[in-house]
Amino acid sequence: MENKKVTEEKKIVRIKNIEIGSGKPVFMAGPCSIESEEHILEEAKALKEIGVDILRGGAFKPRTSPFDFQGLGMEGLEYFRKAADAVDLPFVTEVLSESDIEKMEEYVDMFQVGSRNMYNYALLKKLGKVNKPILLKRGFSATIKEWAMAAEYIAMGGNENIVFCERGIRSFSDYTRNTLDLAGAVLLKNMTGRPVIVDPSHGTGLRELIEPMTDASIACGLDGVIIEVHQCPDEALSDGKQTIDYETYRKIRNKY
Ligand code: PEP
Ligand code: MN
Repeated sequence: MENKKVTEEKKIVRIKNIEIGSGKPVFMAGPCSIESEEHILEEAKALKEIGVDILRGGAFKPRTSPFDFQGLGMEGLEYFRKAADAVDLPFVTEVLSESDIEKMEEYVDMFQVGSRNMYNYALLKKLGKVNKPILLKRGFSATIKEWAMAAEYIAMGGNENIVFCERGIRSFSDYTRNTLDLAGAVLLKNMTGRPVIVDPSHGTGLRELIEPMTDASIACGLDGVIIEVHQCPDEALSDGKQTIDYETYRKIRNKY
């Protein structure tokens, strides 16, 4: 692949009646983690009412510390499936391990590959054989070329339903959790023709930056955002500092 080649072909990814990459920004939102059956149902109902295309929420959580909440696992996915069906919305959730793919497949609408797993080529190859779209997050130290090639590991197996997600890279910035590389995201979209969305939550680590970074992403022509939203962000079991409440989400959502 030539670095600067611009492809004209648009590779739209479809999940039920939602199109990612068609020109209209897609909103994915939900809690960092599924915390209980009641929690995810309440979130799903609130977000449906405000306006969301795809719900997000983690059941298998890749936490920095093994002592932190690790997610509810398969039990969480059962709760998520029920909640998503109750409001008739699809959902995306992270797969941490190859050995979980098969059992997760009957529950999920879209598999997320997290930043820490972008270089897990065995996982990517196996997802190439799955009949579900993949949200491929950027490794936090990945170059554009490495990120683009990670998608090819999936595509090689026959699964072309890939959406990239820019979620920030590590830099020397001392105030943000990561540095959101919107320029890289636009470049990758132009180079590959695949949809690219942005995660301003992990990309900044700070809830006050979600709105300006969402606006910037959409202004750049990127294909959507994935935002962490919680009924009470300060009480969230993970990533509360980068999570917004329903009213803040409503304000952002209503602009588009
Ligand atoms: C997440 O989206 O919950 C997550 C863990 O993101 P990342 O892999 O980008 O850190
Ligand atoms: Mn998170």
